[in-house]
Amino acid sequence: MLTVGLDVGGTKVLGVAIDPRDPGTIVAEHRVPTPDGGAGLVDVLVGLAGALGASPQAVGVGIPGLVDRSGTLHMGPHLRQLRDVPLAQLLTDRLGVPATVDNDANCHAVGEQAAGAAAGADESLVVSFGTGIGAGIVTGGRILRGAHGFAGEPGHMVVDPNGPPCPCGKRGCWERLASGTGLARLARDAAVAGRLDAVVARAGGDPEAVSGEHVTASARAGDKEAQAVLDALARWIALGLANLTNVLDPEVIVIGGGLVDAADLLLPEVRTQFATLVLGGEKRPVVPIVPAVLGEHAGAIGAALLPEGTGSAA
Ligand SMILES: [Zn+2]
Repeated sequence: MLTVGLDVGGTKVLGVAIDPRDPGTIVAEHRVPTPDGGAGLVDVLVGLAGALGASPQAVGVGIPGLVDRSGTLHMGPHLRQLRDVPLAQLLTDRLGVPATVDNDANCHAVGEQAAGAAAGADESLVVSFGTGIGAGIVTGGRILRGAHGFAGEPGHMVVDPNGPPCPCGKRGCWERLASGTGLARLARDAAVAGRLDAVVARAGGDPEAVSGEHVTASARAGDKEAQAVLDALARWIALGLANLTNVLDPEVIVIGGGLVDAADLLLPEVRTQFATLVLGGEKRPVVPIVPAVLGEHAGAIGAALLPEGTGSAA
């Protein structure tokens, strides 16, 4: 038996076929560009499912945005043309097999729990730090979906009411401070303030041009000022993880997304700060904070497992 998982990203849709009994083995894989604004997405997904040549028994889709329990996408930040689209129903009708749709971060968590860094954990938290923050919460072995399907959006927890504005309309959301966007801001602020000479040199001498990549490259070369910026980022990451742990008490926290490339520079300080910020840090079991292992495949593998029962079948 095979199922197909389709992970809709900002630039590409990655499709895989797997046997759900062996989720770590990808039977077929294919990718296509994400259509601009999401126009014609259903046609693209149907074509991609066909290109995998798998004759699947079911199809799962992970998509960035608010997906309700019926598999309707209410809105996605990068899919402007899709509003209140009953994706699961449309795909079921077109494909002739049951289609299930869930938020992409939930799919990442399902994938890491089934075959990745959270394997074997019934209580886990998978947080992806990219331009923003996506998260999936697994509790009792299943994704926590909430009353309407919108649970697991900690990126918009306010952690600094006087912090930078967020596109969501609030200020100081966690994802403004602890993501790749947050790293770029911390780096520019430090550079403009006259610190980070070596990092500014990497950016061609322009403090305004400093990026997160310049900081991590410089820190990896031993620059203490660059490492200090990463330590400041680590504190913001740890603050949100500690808040979530106080609520959810996970067995393991898995860190994914683009920042995972700098895990060796970030995670030691994240763990140190986490231990001081979480309630009763020295009195409770250590919560491992570990990098994701499935990389870009996590979301598609998780999507392929949605029909197993964690998502929203039409
Ligand atoms: Zn926000």
